[in-house]
Amino acid sequence: VTPPATVVHSFRAAVERAPEHTALAYFDGRVSYRETDELSDSVAGHLAARGVGRGDRVAIMLQNSPQFVIGLLGAWKAGATVVPLNPMYKSAEVGHVLKDAEVGALICSDRGWESYLRESAAAASVDVVLTASELDLQTRDDERVLGFARLERPSDTDDLLDVARQGLAAPEGRELTADDTALISYTSGTSGTPKGAMNLHRGITYNAERQRTGHPVPEGSCYFALAPLFHITGMVCELAACIANAGTLALAYRFEAGVVLDAFAEHRPAYTVGPSTAFMALGAHPAATREHFASFQVISSGGAPVPPALVEKFRAGFGPYIRNGYGLTECTAPCASVPPEREAPVDPASGTLSVGVPGPDTVVRILDDTGEEVPFGEQGEIAVSGPQVVPGYWRLPEATAEAFPDGELRTGDIGFMDEDGWLYVVDRKKDMINASGFKVWPREVEDVLYTHPAVREAAVVGIPDEYRGETVKAYVSLRPGVTVKGAEISAYCAERLAAYKYPRDVEILPELPKTTSGKILRRELRFPG
Ligand code: ATP
Repeated sequence: VTPPATVVHSFRAAVERAPEHTALAYFDGRVSYRETDELSDSVAGHLAARGVGRGDRVAIMLQNSPQFVIGLLGAWKAGATVVPLNPMYKSAEVGHVLKDAEVGALICSDRGWESYLRESAAAASVDVVLTASELDLQTRDDERVLGFARLERPSDTDDLLDVARQGLAAPEGRELTADDTALISYTSGTSGTPKGAMNLHRGITYNAERQRTGHPVPEGSCYFALAPLFHITGMVCELAACIANAGTLALAYRFEAGVVLDAFAEHRPAYTVGPSTAFMALGAHPAATREHFASFQVISSGGAPVPPALVEKFRAGFGPYIRNGYGLTECTAPCASVPPEREAPVDPASGTLSVGVPGPDTVVRILDDTGEEVPFGEQGEIAVSGPQVVPGYWRLPEATAEAFPDGELRTGDIGFMDEDGWLYVVDRKKDMINASGFKVWPREVEDVLYTHPAVREAAVVGIPDEYRGETVKAYVSLRPGVTVKGAEISAYCAERLAAYKYPRDVEILPELPKTTSGKILRRELRFPG
């Protein structure tokens, strides 16, 4: 199947097929495909009238809400490239991205605008600002959760939904092509200063089509947006895949286990994808029952390691099988996933759960330090080429040449491939711990920690050690209501791991630091503050 050229083409096809079907479900609010089309046309008309041209950058800094989707489609219909921004960014981070991407228009929450975005936008010479009302999740007050009421409008901005309701026509002659840059996605920054990966429309529609056919659910099904839409996983595997299938995208603002469980009960989703930490939190929530997960046909987890113990505990407790998937911002989300009707094998030697097999037209090679391919079963750096791999980083020719020699992405992840073509991700190259000259991969130790019944989340890092160079330290958070000492968990690991691998020090924290996309930030634990 040839995917549509752009997400806008895919969206228009869904509008034709199912105009009255609910495109967006937000608490009690419903917006049909036809309405979403009209609202986003009007946003496009407004942006164009305010001077946003083809290829200009429009930043969107919103949580998972209808306004995110309406703003995104509106910006694309105006011919723009969208820069999704993490709403948790602080003003220095926002300022950097707005300047770096030369953003001309910003769509953000009114509260964010009032509190700190105004200055960053002014410093970066942003001309057009559309605000959307910031909603209080906890109130669930009808008027506010619908998102059509707003707090007092900040001066010198237009309200997104007011603009959307003006009935303006989308500008003519702004048709995008498969090769247009849909997004400049700043990488989540777990490894340093964010770089803007240029995701093309062709990469998004290719991977959306792969999700649709590789994890099939009936046309029109409900997709639950568990991963944030500003992150490439949410953008592609939830939003674009949902549109490709003329589905309903259920939105719950941001991840909060109790609210998400309620929303599952209300929307009865067939499909969701999220980081493994989201499933850990859902599974540990005291209200969670099998019934909450009964409607799911596909649950997949990507963007971070999936411990085999999580998959088994989740299946035993709630029913669904969590399908692993491997992706990066630079691959426009997934490049390997578990085929339908199959389960990912666990490597007997290391206990690692496979991330799946590379998709069609996607080539994964495992390379040694000299760039030569290694034999099956041997570890090396994972390199990926295929239609979803981005052409490079925005205005960073050197970083692009380094990460994409001959267009092939060097992922910075260590992995191996077995003889049947299953790919395994060992860990990030830079997170390797060198303990007395022995290599320790944090993920292997974390997988063991997750088998402990008291452990909810785990992160393993190397800390400086006078004798060993580095030594293995674990941070864990516990399941609600259990008490256990760090030393007991350390002893548990000592029985299951070699002497140089097990964490001699296990520190218990109420919560581990995470990115808003749900990844545990090992870096913050290694270099606190
Ligand atoms: P930055 O590039 O700024 O450090 P990041 O690496 O977190 O941020 P992403 O593109 O969001 O940016 O994440 C991609 C990384 O996530 C991969 O390189 C890999 O290390 C990890 N990852 C993704 N999926 C999996 C998986 N299924 N199993 C193990 N690790 C995974």
